[in-house]
Amino acid sequence: MIKVVVVGGGWAGCAAALSAAKAGAQVMLLERTDLLLGTGLVGGIFRNNGRYTAAEEAIAMGGGDLFVAMDANSRHRAVSFPGHSHASFYDVTTMEPLVKKILQNYGVEIKTKTRVVDVIKYGKKLQGIMIDGGEVIKADAFVDTTGTAGPMGNCLTYGNGCAMCVIRCPSFGPRVSVTAKAEVKELMGLKDDGSIGAMSGSCKLNKDSLSNEIKDKLESEGVVVLSLPENIRKSGSLGKKACTQYAIADYAQNLVLLDTGHAKMMTSYFPLEDLRTVPGLERARYEDPYAGGIGNSMRYIGIAPCNDLLKVDSIDNLFCAGEKAAIMVGHTEAVVTGLLAGHNAVALSPYCYAV
Ligand SMILES: Cc1cc2nc3c(=O)[nH]c(=O)nc-3n(C[C@H](O)[C@H](O)[C@H](O)COP(=O)(O)OP(=O)(O)OC[C@H]3O[C@@H](n4cnc5c(N)ncnc54)[C@H](O)[C@@H]3O)c2cc1C
Repeated sequence: MIKVVVVGGGWAGCAAALSAAKAGAQVMLLERTDLLLGTGLVGGIFRNNGRYTAAEEAIAMGGGDLFVAMDANSRHRAVSFPGHSHASFYDVTTMEPLVKKILQNYGVEIKTKTRVVDVIKYGKKLQGIMIDGGEVIKADAFVDTTGTAGPMGNCLTYGNGCAMCVIRCPSFGPRVSVTAKAEVKELMGLKDDGSIGAMSGSCKLNKDSLSNEIKDKLESEGVVVLSLPENIRKSGSLGKKACTQYAIADYAQNLVLLDTGHAKMMTSYFPLEDLRTVPGLERARYEDPYAGGIGNSMRYIGIAPCNDLLKVDSIDNLFCAGEKAAIMVGHTEAVVTGLLAGHNAVALSPYCYAV
């Protein structure tokens, strides 16, 4: 039986582990924190615009388990908000255990609090990876789904400092890229002004810190759009956003709040003192990142060069998916590329006799 090790348990890694298991491999999924889903723990928007088609295609092709789970765990469906139609919002507070259960049902061995720190490479192949503490895990094929957010140094160098986000670098250690450890030169995304990386485009507010009127509307309709007074608009900040679909003028003129379990605010940073001048937000406080007033995590630092099969350049048995594989990625893209990478890690493995 082919053994596949997937490194990084965000949406991409979960999807890769699932499709590799479905393709008949023995699969181990390694995640450095105590939770799966990575940045998927704070997102929630899916099926918006073209992502609807991507989800339907994945379901039709037999790889839809994770989208079906998101659908089943949605707080709101078919919501429209500026620039977006027919979006669904999965509940970010309850999604992770459902995904974990699905993977376990398919026989995926999940190891959390397990951080990969190095690789064992021979010629153009990876023989194994080394985890914190020195243990080496060998496999026939590997999938790098370590994402592009963190370590803290990147947020300090390219962003506004560590905003204490869901990546939780101080608690679980920095992200380590398998691709970089395999000595493959990675690509870096650039902001509008040419500087490195992009700032994640949303923050979470504590729902109980909103006025009752806003909270009730958010929970019943899924979306609240608050017009901003001219003097506190942040038009100049739109170009820093990772998600360009939220970099349109509506997001400077308004505060857009979405109900994903938390109150997801579609603005990556807004000083608390300005935020609290908006009627109904006088008591507002950030939930994630905890220092949301100064920003959110920096992403797109460390993308693996790869081909259309998602095989990493110059390494025969290393595949990649999600943010590791491309710029401008969300949950949907992470899942569909994860499905492809996991499947290909089995189907294209030189050790594959069965597929
Ligand atoms: C604040 C915020 C809000 C967002 N909102 C949305 C949204 O509403 N809708 C949407 O579609 N997209 C959203 N996105 C984008 C979306 O979350 C990501 O593009 C997508 O989920 C990326 O998935 P991934 O698996 O590629 O990477 P990640 O989610 O970054 O996962 C990578 C995982 O790898 C782990 N890891 C890293 N290094 C190691 C190592 N050495 N060993 C073991 N594990 C390791 C990390 O701990 C992490 O769990 C949002 C992003 C952010 C930051």
